[in-house]
Amino acid sequence: MHHMTLAEIARGLADKKFSSEELTQVLLARIAQLDPQLNSFISLTQELALSQAKAADARRANGETGALLGAPIAHKDLFCTQGIRTSCGSKMLDNFKAPYDATVVAKLAAAGAVTLGKTNMDEFAMGSANESSYYGAVKNPWNLEHVPGGSSGGSAAAVAARLLPAATATDTGGSIRQPAAFTNLTGLKPTYGRVSRWGMIAYASSLDQGGPLARTAEDCAILLQGMAGFDPNDSTSIDEPVPDYSASLNSSLQGLRIGVPKEYFSAGLDPRIAERVHNSVKELEKLGAVIKEISLPNMQHAIPAYYVIAPAEASSNLSRFDGVRFGYRCENPENLIDLYKRSRGEGFGAEVQRRIMVGAYALSAGYYDAYYLKAQKIRRLVKNDFMAAFNEVDIILGPTTPNPAWKLGAKNSDPVAEYLEDVYTITANLAGLPGLSMPAGFVDGLPVGVQLLAPYFQEGRLLNVAHQYQLHTDWHTRTPQGF
Ligand code: GLN
Repeated sequence: MHHMTLAEIARGLADKKFSSEELTQVLLARIAQLDPQLNSFISLTQELALSQAKAADARRANGETGALLGAPIAHKDLFCTQGIRTSCGSKMLDNFKAPYDATVVAKLAAAGAVTLGKTNMDEFAMGSANESSYYGAVKNPWNLEHVPGGSSGGSAAAVAARLLPAATATDTGGSIRQPAAFTNLTGLKPTYGRVSRWGMIAYASSLDQGGPLARTAEDCAILLQGMAGFDPNDSTSIDEPVPDYSASLNSSLQGLRIGVPKEYFSAGLDPRIAERVHNSVKELEKLGAVIKEISLPNMQHAIPAYYVIAPAEASSNLSRFDGVRFGYRCENPENLIDLYKRSRGEGFGAEVQRRIMVGAYALSAGYYDAYYLKAQKIRRLVKNDFMAAFNEVDIILGPTTPNPAWKLGAKNSDPVAEYLEDVYTITANLAGLPGLSMPAGFVDGLPVGVQLLAPYFQEGRLLNVAHQYQLHTDWHTRTPQGF
């Protein structure tokens, strides 16, 4: 039962082959048995799951239908869930029970999805390895000595290990696409403003975007359908109609113009990943796509710009965690300043403190123009590169990551080495564009992803290309040994 995709589950439930309650019991038992190896969950919500499953079964018995009605999922632990711990992977929020549901959580619950639990993540979504969580590192089911990617590593490891078919995640600089690549999943970061950020604990507000992690493009379409849409509670949410994503999956790729940026194949890219990318290009050519070399000349400046802008926004967003209003408070403070200092010093981990310091520095009066303002100008140049490219092509294709998943601990002493791994993903966040990573082969037994980028609000096109690719390849069906 645990091998089923969301689409297969929807068919099985509609045909009354099993109930949502039965499926939920099976998956909860599987999580209890296997998750100790992975550490992909921070909290399990068994009681909620069983009551939601029963309610979904009752709705189906009353004639209601829907692809998510009775479908088991989990939420990355930065989506607020009413009455349930929402920790953001941090000691700071270890004791925080959200007083309300995030819009994404509420929408999916209304569609009948069943919440099995809250998944592990890098603290405040900062990281590319899922090693900075207060609740411990997450392991990659493809090789337990390797990282699953971050910051949505818990969602990715759980779905890859068949503990559940799909999960929500968020992507500020790659945190949906990079763990998807590292664990052989399909992950979609939507256009900025497509999915509401209300109740999604903020890291860098102008970059953060929620989206689906699943095994197939077909399942990403189903989950995105339940997440996307205008939300008056989020002032950056965009009032644009949500298309039927599943309906776009089957369009032909005949004549589709795919751009491959020449800058992507620089020295930093593992040549074995380059080969997998070229193979996927050949596969798409067979399906009728036309390939064109393009250029994204400002790509080299994207990492430094991102690692100024994201920490700057983080330093501002995280100022609310002061030990006074909610979250962690130190013991026996001597005075107010001592309370602030020790609550933040004890509540935040090392990487979060590093980002707050970098961000506060970049925003300080003397350095604002030199760092923050310059980074914003680079951001515009990165966007302009994409706008020019999308005049010539419909899709941009390349590697999701320069290397496969590294060993746990391998980059702990060198944060910049870890930042450099985001080179292919962060540009989409800087520009606000939608991006998808799909399975495209293996290197040393570890999965490799290919990234597709599209113009604003063309999530349907990304899902269409990935689905057609998945109809003609079987990388996405491979299962990690032992799971
Ligand atoms: N690795 C990037 C960072 O640490 C992106 C993380 C994310 O997308 N949440 O900021």
